[in-house]
Amino acid sequence: MSGQRALRPETLAVHAGRTADPSTGAVIPPIQLSTTFERSADGTYPGGYVYTRSDNPNRSALEHCLAALEGGAAAAAFASGMAAISAVFQALTPGDHVIFPSDVYFGTGRLLRELMAPWGVAYSVVDLTDLDAVQAAIQPHTRLVWVESPSNPLLKITDIAAVARLAHAAGARCAVDNTWPSPAGQQPLALGADLVMHATTKYLGGHSDLLGGALVLAQADAFFERIRLVQTIGGAVPSPFDCWLLLRSIRTLPYRMRAHTDNAEQVARFLASHPAVAAVHYPGLPSHPGHAVASQQMQLWGGMLSVQLQGGAAAALRMASRVHLFTRATSLGGVESLIEHRASVEGPQSQTPANLLRISVGLEHPDDLIADLDQALA
Ligand SMILES: *Cc1c(COP(=O)(O)O)cnc(C)c1O
Repeated sequence: MSGQRALRPETLAVHAGRTADPSTGAVIPPIQLSTTFERSADGTYPGGYVYTRSDNPNRSALEHCLAALEGGAAAAAFASGMAAISAVFQALTPGDHVIFPSDVYFGTGRLLRELMAPWGVAYSVVDLTDLDAVQAAIQPHTRLVWVESPSNPLLKITDIAAVARLAHAAGARCAVDNTWPSPAGQQPLALGADLVMHATTKYLGGHSDLLGGALVLAQADAFFERIRLVQTIGGAVPSPFDCWLLLRSIRTLPYRMRAHTDNAEQVARFLASHPAVAAVHYPGLPSHPGHAVASQQMQLWGGMLSVQLQGGAAAALRMASRVHLFTRATSLGGVESLIEHRASVEGPQSQTPANLLRISVGLEHPDDLIADLDQALA
C-alpha cells in the first residue's frame, strides 16, 4: 500500500483493492461465496484463506481500499455501522472510561448507556465543541474520546486535531465517526486521530441498498489486533456480496461527494434566504459557528444539512408532507434526497428541536430540488 499513499483520492478509489482475477483474467474480481478453502497436501492454504468468517477475498479487498482511502495502516469491515462501533468498545477493558459527545449518533449513545456500561465501560457525555469541557472530563482511566463531526442533526463541528491532542496527552485514543463527511470529505487520521469509523451503509455504499460498517486504524497495533479478534470471533462480518457491492460503489465516491456537496451548498443557500426559515445548519455556510474549523479540517462539506422553520413543529411537518422529490425516510448518503423530522423518530426523550428537518441531499439536479422545497414552503 505504501506506494499508493501519494495517489489522489479519485485514483485510490478506482484502484485500491483491485487486482484482475488470476484464474480468469477478469478485470472485476468475482464474488467469492465459498465459506471454506482447500488445504494443499502439505497442509498449507495456497490462497491464504481458510474460512470466510476469518477472512474472504472480497472483504480483504474492501479493507485494503478503505485503509488506503483513510491513509490508515489497517481496516476491519463489519456487518453494520453499529457492529463496527461495538467492536471498538468491546476492545476496551472493563474499568476503562470513554468520553462521547452529547449529540452523538443515537445508536452509539444507546450502545454505551444500555450495553457497554453494564459491562463496566464508564463514560462521560460532553459538548465536544467545548475543549475545556473535554479536558475537565478526562479521568485517570480515560482510554478513548469518541468524536462525530459534523454532528447529527445540528452539524456541530468538533476540532479533531485539538481533541486528539487532549486525548493523547491523557494517554487515550481519539476515534472519529467519519460517516457523514466520508473519506472524500475529511481525513481524521491525518488530523491526528487514531481510529476512523464508518457506517458504510451511508455514503460509501451510496445507494441505500446495503448495510455495513468499517474501522480504519492509524497503526496496526495491539488495539487493532483486539478489534480483529472481535470481528472474526465475535463474527459480525459483512457478506461477500455486500463487500463486492461496497467496493463497486467506492469507485465513484470522490465524484459523488463533490456532487452531493455542490447540491447541498445550493439547497442550504436557498433555505437560508427563505423567509419561512429560522435557521440552516450546514458547515459550508460562512454563518455556521463551526465554519472556520470545518474549513481547516474538511475537504468537502458533504450532503447533509438541517433546517429549522419559523412556524414550529407544525410548519416542519407540513413541509415534510408537501415535498415530492424528497422521500420522507431516515438514513442518508444515497443518490436520492431524503427528508426527516428527527424529533418524531427519536421519541419523547429527544433533544432535537421540534421545528427541525434533517435533509440528505442527493444527486438530482439542484434546481429541481430547490423548486420542490420552494413549493413545499409556499
Ligand atoms: C447510520 C449511522 C451509524 C450506524 O450505522 P448502521 O449501519 O445503521 O449500523 C453510525 N453513525 C452514524 C453517524 C450514522 O449515520
